[in-house]
Amino acid sequence: MSRVTFRLPSPLRALAGGAAEVPIEADTVAAAAARLAERHPALRPRLLAPDGQLRSSVALYLNDRDVREADGGATRLEDGDVLEVIPALAGGSERPDGETDERSFRREELVRYSRHLLLPEVGAVGQRRLRAGKVVLVGAGGLGSPAALYLAAAGVGEIGLVDFDRVDASNLQRQVLYTEADVGRIKPEAARDRLRAMNPGIHVSIHPDRLTAENALETLRPYDVVIDGSDNFPTRYLVNDACVLLGKPDVFGSVYRFEGQATVFDARRGPCYRCLYPAPPPPDLVPSCAEAGVLGVLPGLIGVIQATEAMKLLLGIGEPLVGRLLLFDAQAMAFRELRLRRNPTCDLCSPTATQTGLIDYAAFCGGEDAAGDSLPDDVPEISATELAAALGGPDPPRLVDVRDPPEWEIGLLPGATRIPRAALVERLGELTSAPRLVLYCSSGARSAQAARWLRELGVTNVRSLRDGLRGWAREVDPSWPSY
Ligand SMILES: [Zn+2]
Repeated sequence: MSRVTFRLPSPLRALAGGAAEVPIEADTVAAAAARLAERHPALRPRLLAPDGQLRSSVALYLNDRDVREADGGATRLEDGDVLEVIPALAGGSERPDGETDERSFRREELVRYSRHLLLPEVGAVGQRRLRAGKVVLVGAGGLGSPAALYLAAAGVGEIGLVDFDRVDASNLQRQVLYTEADVGRIKPEAARDRLRAMNPGIHVSIHPDRLTAENALETLRPYDVVIDGSDNFPTRYLVNDACVLLGKPDVFGSVYRFEGQATVFDARRGPCYRCLYPAPPPPDLVPSCAEAGVLGVLPGLIGVIQATEAMKLLLGIGEPLVGRLLLFDAQAMAFRELRLRRNPTCDLCSPTATQTGLIDYAAFCGGEDAAGDSLPDDVPEISATELAAALGGPDPPRLVDVRDPPEWEIGLLPGATRIPRAALVERLGELTSAPRLVLYCSSGARSAQAARWLRELGVTNVRSLRDGLRGWAREVDPSWPSY
């Protein structure tokens, strides 16, 4: 048996009693994953499909190399090896055609862009490329805000903004495009005003719609570079697939709590998102930033990295992040880099690809995963209205708040017991005695997953609050601070 270390990303640590690293003795990668799941059963559904195989939605690295490049689960381990799970987180154009725009710079442009004009790598030629450049941001939120601000300041001639959200007060902690006066406005409209106020010399196009399989190709086609600042898997896959089909670079960024990722997917010269993650993780297993929180400055850092990559691609300078995944940890203030490989049998970008168009992304990300694991559609739910009635009745159910401890500070439903998901298994004894249980979280996703675990462990009298506290705010108590 070889003694190896299993390193866990922060989203999974809570399921392993908070451990960042777990020592394991095993001979192969698959045996190590199985042993880890034995020791921390809550990790099992994250890592392994029901048949015990490694999930295709999990990227596993052995000493900074993707195990799929070696022998996958059968890869032999040696003493001192480090295995690491790289989580899927809910985050180049060649030089522009011809250098036809030879229009000289106006005097105010010479002043405005003088620090670029002084750089030999940019200069007047580069500044014209930026002026002719077209960059679209999918998502005008935490990542899109700093990216859009810097691209506009740099003089990128055409900036597209795709977002259908309205500015919410909870956005202002990190979405620096917006001010308090913008709360309630459509994001791309507020963003356009802000960018134009900073640089009237650029053009901002807004697409205040949800990006869908029906409109993605037409929406993204006019642009040279796509920046993905979205916050959900259906959009991640949609942007990737559209970029592969259109032959455009997808500048990827994502954030979670204190950690971020960035890379450039460009199937013409490197891997695509599907090469890294052929299938999305089951939807109930991935907390969003709304559930997990995010350090406000973190999307600023990652979004600025995305803007940097977009500018390099427009300028045709430097080494793009193609085939390299940059990992950032704000608490350690550490950057690391992993090599990404092209999947020679990728469904989308390989010579043997079977996918030739866009697909139904909601079904792809919300349905069955590649291993055929069924999702908890069998978990009984209770609506907020029904719960309020039951709590006021003669025989109220036991209410359990399964969110993480920091979220309890925002407020608890009356009478709720606080048990975070990671502690449910060890506090099972408290739960089996209740005649009826209702679990809740912020959106209903984590409580549904927790209810499924409990049902698998033999607790049958359990239900999950549909839509979580958001449902409660909508149906029962509008004063509840939904987040
Ligand atoms: Zn691919």
